[in-house]
Amino acid sequence: MDSFIACHECDVVHSIKTLPERGAAHCIRCGAVLYKHKPNSLERTLAFAIAGLILFILANSFPFLGLKIGAQVRETTLITGIHELYVQGMHVIAILVLMTTVLAPFIQMMCLFYVLLPLKFGRLPRRLPRVLRFLEHVLPWSMMEVFMVGILVSVVKLAGMAKIIPGISLYSFLALIFVLAAMTASLDGHLIWQKWEEHR
Ligand SMILES: [Zn+2]
Repeated sequence: MDSFIACHECDVVHSIKTLPERGAAHCIRCGAVLYKHKPNSLERTLAFAIAGLILFILANSFPFLGLKIGAQVRETTLITGIHELYVQGMHVIAILVLMTTVLAPFIQMMCLFYVLLPLKFGRLPRRLPRVLRFLEHVLPWSMMEVFMVGILVSVVKLAGMAKIIPGISLYSFLALIFVLAAMTASLDGHLIWQKWEEHR
């Protein structure tokens, strides 16, 4: 059974063919790239997801920032920071930060484990279509870099009043942003749908 794809530039509809190693399919009218073969997509995406999970655990277990005022040091973790925002009445911001920096990345990684681990071992996860579509809805919510900019702005503001001590969590968090970006980039949706169609 052939499936179809519309060019995102000019809307010409093409049928999807299996690509050779490292090949790319281009639009016949405008030449835009329709889809690419991503080498070892399954393994690479899984590797990034595992690295991401480790960084995620580190980012949520260790202090995010320490503030030194005089002789006093106050340490904040990601979660206590979010809680602090909430207690101070910034409910919407607290919920947004929780969703974009904790829940969305976590759900994203769990969805990928659910889909990719069985595929890696030649099995088909039963709820694959539902989980993949759910993942597409979650992805736009994963916006850790936006949060990061917010942190940098507040750190610059605080720098006059207190000494800032970056924690392990902050570094893990920075690394996590790049690892998750690489994970999303190496994910080959076409390959997964193809496997689903073949084995169903
Ligand atoms: Zn086109």
